[in-house]
Amino acid sequence: MDAASGDEACAICALHRDVDHLESHEIWRSDLWLLRHHPGPAPLAGWCLLDARRHCGGPMEFAPKEAREWGLVVQQASRLVQRVSGCDRVYAIAFGEGARHLHLHLIPRESGDARTTAWGVADHYRNVEEGRTIPASDAKVRDWLVRARAMASDLFDESFGRDR
Ligand SMILES: [Zn+2]
Repeated sequence: MDAASGDEACAICALHRDVDHLESHEIWRSDLWLLRHHPGPAPLAGWCLLDARRHCGGPMEFAPKEAREWGLVVQQASRLVQRVSGCDRVYAIAFGEGARHLHLHLIPRESGDARTTAWGVADHYRNVEEGRTIPASDAKVRDWLVRARAMASDLFDESFGRDR
């Protein structure tokens, strides 16, 4: 059930085994889910990923318990991104091409920020990835994470318990 049983070649499974990375980017986890901030370079402060902890390609492959919890965990993670960012909306996008392991992008959408207009956010993502646009600063991401971690327990632990 844990990441150690996943695909050895999977980038998401590898990340779940990377203790240093999780120490700096993890927000919350349960036995089934792991919520983390986007690794650097981060396109935006507050751009998060909600991962299945199990090596699982997406909803079509969910076990019954994953299927039952998915709606609630996406709702609470989206609320967390909205509350911490103070943004208008939160996009939820999952392609699963970079790694065939479910990692739902949760993206703060601010109406005054043209970089985050629908598919424009994908252009922004590629511009940051390819070095054409400046990513969110480490200081902004750290500050966002401090506030997110402080709020996460209230939002999640009642519904999902804690697996630490
Ligand atoms: Zn995996």
